[in-house]
Amino acid sequence: MSSPARLPTVAEARNLILSFARPLPPQTLPLDPSVLGLVLAEDVAADLDSPPHDKALMDGYAVRSADLAAGSATLTVTEEVTAGQVPTLPVGPGLAARIMTGAPLPAGADAVVMVERSEPLADGRVRLADRPPRPGQHVLPRGREMRRGEVVLKAGTVLRPQDVGLLAALGRAQVRAVPPPRVHVLVTGDELVEAPGVPGPGQIRNSNGPMLLAQVSRGGGRPRYLGIARDRRDSLEPLIDQGLAAPVLILSGGVSMGTRDLVPQVLAERGVRPVLHKVEMKPGKPLFFGVADRAEGPTLVFGLPGNPVSSFVGFELFMRPVLRRLAGHADPGPRQVTAALAEDFAYRSDRPTYHPARVEVADGWRVRPVPWFGSPDLRGLGPANALLLLPAGDGPHRVGQAFPVVCLDPM
Ligand code: AMP
Ligand code: MG
Repeated sequence: MSSPARLPTVAEARNLILSFARPLPPQTLPLDPSVLGLVLAEDVAADLDSPPHDKALMDGYAVRSADLAAGSATLTVTEEVTAGQVPTLPVGPGLAARIMTGAPLPAGADAVVMVERSEPLADGRVRLADRPPRPGQHVLPRGREMRRGEVVLKAGTVLRPQDVGLLAALGRAQVRAVPPPRVHVLVTGDELVEAPGVPGPGQIRNSNGPMLLAQVSRGGGRPRYLGIARDRRDSLEPLIDQGLAAPVLILSGGVSMGTRDLVPQVLAERGVRPVLHKVEMKPGKPLFFGVADRAEGPTLVFGLPGNPVSSFVGFELFMRPVLRRLAGHADPGPRQVTAALAEDFAYRSDRPTYHPARVEVADGWRVRPVPWFGSPDLRGLGPANALLLLPAGDGPHRVGQAFPVVCLDPM
């Protein structure tokens, strides 16, 4: 036997995989909450000045500031202007208009005096007592927020609720954005039983299917579940063919060295060119990645090892960045910080290990590994919000030592 080639590191594998991932073509989508988190694919300009008129910012009286140079005056009220109306009379010297927040300022007026500073008189006049108002007091001038033609949202913006509001303010009922990538999820294994079923002898429940769908969803993809394929060609083949009809296909299980691990072989027969089959990491070393051609563009195919934590970690390190890239994000992630170990930690491994951990900000980033016995231990992942990257070797690792940490949850 020839000596095995060095396995790619996680960074090498991720770069290689990302070199096959291009942002999907933008689509015109209705402006509704489903655009949240999508990447805007157009520069958006204002179609109107905003505000469209000099606008009162207070309920009160529209006045000529010069009339109140002494701080107080008794003025004749011309009319009342409420929001949505237009003034019909100019405000000349000695005059004022009753005005409500949002209403256009009448010609001649250049300031608003708050209603709290007014005292209506019986003869229809009003007495105003204020500090001498500066011109423009409580007035939002036309175009102050934006001018017609001005670009107010740039392509590449990740859409948030305030951007949706701004788009609506610009008269947009639709928007061009990169759509969420469709992701097919196919789980393999003769031993698997779907919840709520009760496993018979030798069987276990399928946790990876629901978990991967949730990970795809959190990662900005639109997941579709294809069910369980049994470890036989006649079961795998039709489901893989179906799976290849999306930009991303994720399979769980069947990529290791067992006699029933048929996935890479069947994928190759269905036209998937293998790119990668192992990565220098723990958990999740037997990661398969390949590419198939479709008329609409490539299908990126991932085969994750079946142990639940291997599957989880593989998705976070490789598939989540791919989904971000397909969705047009500039930075694919994963989000990584450097954190100080909160306590001594003895750990030995022959490979770099992504150990479940809890990271927090307390005087800088601090990380504490959580109890975990290895790739089958999904329960151990529960308290974790991060993966602590420990180098290969004997350790022991000391309190205060700095390590890279991959953040899993938003924080
Ligand atoms: P495999 O990668 O198919 O060799 O599976 C490795 C281990 O993960 C085995 O113990 C499987 O029973 C387990 N496993 C495989 N698929 C799943 C799944 N969908 N949910 C939970 N455990 C699984
Ligand atoms: Mg299996």
